[in-house]
Amino acid sequence: MVHRNGPATWLIELSDWHTSVPARLMVLAAIGLLLAAGAMLVHLTGGTPSVHAHLMYVPIFLASAVYGVAGGLVAGLLAGLMLGPLLGGSLESVQAIMTSWGVRTLWLMAIGAGAGLMMQMIAALGREQRAQALRDPFTGLPNQAALMEDLDAHLAANAGDKAKVAAVLLRATDFADIVEVIGIEDGDRILGEIGEHLSRSCPEVRGCYRFSTSELAFIVECGDRETLKRIARTLHGAATDPFDVDGVPVRIEPAVGLGHVGADATIDAREAVRRTRVALRRAETLERNWVSYEPTLDADASTTLELIGLAEQAIEAGEFTLQYQPKIRLADRRPAGVEALARWRRPNEGLVAPGSFMPKLEQTSLIDTFSRFVVRTATDYAGSGPLLPVSINLAPRNLADERLADALIDGLQQTGTPPECFMVEVTESGIMREPRAAIALLNRLREHGIGVSIDDFGTGYSSFAYLRQLPATELKIDRAFVHPLEGDAKTRRLVLAMIEVGHALDLSVTAEGVETEEQARILTELGCDLGQGFLWSPAVETSALHKWLAAAEPA
Ligand code: C2E
Ligand code: CA
Ligand code: CA
Repeated sequence: MVHRNGPATWLIELSDWHTSVPARLMVLAAIGLLLAAGAMLVHLTGGTPSVHAHLMYVPIFLASAVYGVAGGLVAGLLAGLMLGPLLGGSLESVQAIMTSWGVRTLWLMAIGAGAGLMMQMIAALGREQRAQALRDPFTGLPNQAALMEDLDAHLAANAGDKAKVAAVLLRATDFADIVEVIGIEDGDRILGEIGEHLSRSCPEVRGCYRFSTSELAFIVECGDRETLKRIARTLHGAATDPFDVDGVPVRIEPAVGLGHVGADATIDAREAVRRTRVALRRAETLERNWVSYEPTLDADASTTLELIGLAEQAIEAGEFTLQYQPKIRLADRRPAGVEALARWRRPNEGLVAPGSFMPKLEQTSLIDTFSRFVVRTATDYAGSGPLLPVSINLAPRNLADERLADALIDGLQQTGTPPECFMVEVTESGIMREPRAAIALLNRLREHGIGVSIDDFGTGYSSFAYLRQLPATELKIDRAFVHPLEGDAKTRRLVLAMIEVGHALDLSVTAEGVETEEQARILTELGCDLGQGFLWSPAVETSALHKWLAAAEPA
């Protein structure tokens, strides 16, 4: 353990060692034996002038290391007495012999006291260093190293019933944003206060630690999984209480990972903490308040890792392709555009739909490389294909990627594609991640004449305030609203309202996921402009798309 490596470590351990009675007796016996042995050797080899007298320093230093000043004094006294008065060599008078003995004894006591003082000071310094190494200086809370040490101690103390012990990790998911506004000092202070507030709010908490910049860890003692869930709810709830910063209430957005140790006797602190991290990551990706560790989460994490590892090579190896799905103008049922949808052609596995890799890919920087491929392929196609608008999907991360916008604008110029024949599809939640940057990027695309479509409308974060500001040209009603259209009058009224919202904002409205003629008829009746779905065609290769278009549009 890192914090144990210091110059005074051996000294601290030595001076802490005699706390148990058997150890104390052993140390005393060793000191006694060394004193006796030293004295005997001096007597047998001709007295104090012999260098062997210095042997007495060994037990004196040992006593001073273990018992400090008092130990050094007593050992010095004993050593002096045991060397005896008659070892003065050439001294003749009794008085001179006695004085020499007394001075020698005092000298040994002074050495013992001095050594004890020095050793106590070094040990105190070492203890201070160790305490500092176990504490986060910014919040005053114990740190990760202390957590590992304490958690191991709790697990050892509950060895018969490890299921009682659990580790909990709480992350202030918006800590970076908070720090940007209130500064790192106040951010740290708030995190420390939250830690103390949570420890007070939840009696099962046995320790609160600063785990990382934005994370607090807790050791809790709980009866079972149900209690742990209740604890998670309490901690999450208390963590959302506002904290005062210069009169302004500041509130964090917490996510909690629970690492229940269970009955497995082999689990140590590292494993318990690893579990909380896996659970916390899942809570964040699912946007849930808390998630409890399950072994299946490990499998998911490794598949994600494996998939992401494979995706990087797959981009280089050209295993990704785009397929295109037509959009139809409902009024006259003529083709009105195509949407490019990514497919992964995996060796031996055939075509893989984006649902299984896109959400994961979108969370890594690989999406940047991937989206360049999409932009390149789709602009090439738009330049050579049917003069119909081509749409591509942009991930939330793409909306902060200025260079991707450059690549798109360049791609259209190079292929001679009119920008009106190109469109990007973005979701509202994607825009809301970083609204200013996203709106600026979309405005830039609009200024070049590229269309902007609001995808999956109705399923995510819908803010009319933002919707009004968005430089959009199209609204795509999510297929979740299209499927129930046939039987449900309420859905019909809702879809009508969505269409009217779109029209009120001068947007063309597309319904996606149209599978039946009846759905198409209702949508046409409600005034929806375009439709897209299996009723007409799934996403297909370009050659199949061209055949379909030729058949749909008689010369
Ligand atoms: P999306 O943008 O909502 O795409 C529409 C999805 O609905 C496509 O699934 C499409 O095949 C499917 N679909 C079309 N018509 C019907 C229908 O009638 N019924 C049903 N049940 N489904 C229909 P796909 O191709 O699996 O794509 C899933 C999602 O993956 C897309 O949803 C989009 O969010 C994402 N995606 C696909 N390609 C890309 C890409 O190149 N970049 C990014 N960032 N995301 C992509
Ligand atoms: Ca889309
Ligand atoms: Ca969609």
